Amino acid sequence: MSDGNDLCSCGNRGCLEATIGEPALLRNARELCRDLDLPVPSSPAELYSAAAHLDPLAELLTHSGRLLGRALGNLINLLAPELVVLSGEGVDAGEVLLGAVRTELAVHVHEGLRDTYELMVEPLTDEAWARGAASLILNAVFEQPTRTHSSPLWDWSASQ
Ligand SMILES: [Zn+2]
Repeated sequence: MSDGNDLCSCGNRGCLEATIGEPALLRNARELCRDLDLPVPSSPAELYSAAAHLDPLAELLTHSGRLLGRALGNLINLLAPELVVLSGEGVDAGEVLLGAVRTELAVHVHEGLRDTYELMVEPLTDEAWARGAASLILNAVFEQPTRTHSSPLWDWSASQ
């Protein structure tokens, strides 16, 4: 399992994404399964499905949910949002992960803030993907007010 200091795609080490993002989850699950001589999941969906009957994988997802819950708890304590939306492929992990998130939030969110926010779990749909892609384009348009016709609106090679 990760020591929590993994290199992130942003260049830093120890980011939550590098520790519990889906690629990290799958990598850690594969390593765990090889160590325990269990069937190695080939995809996150396979991991989530296998976790229903393989305790070590369930424990991995629960651990990840705890880390996410603590991080969210810190954010809620700092920002006092009214709504927290959990989305992305990771929500497909289900209650084994989300239950751990809720448990950690119940512990780590300051008492005065516990009833002031709503936690919404929203599966990632094709529409959300499309909105995200569109927002990247809009960001490019609005963040470059001095853009000239010779510079591209979007550098597709940089996004891969
Ligand atoms: Zn990062």
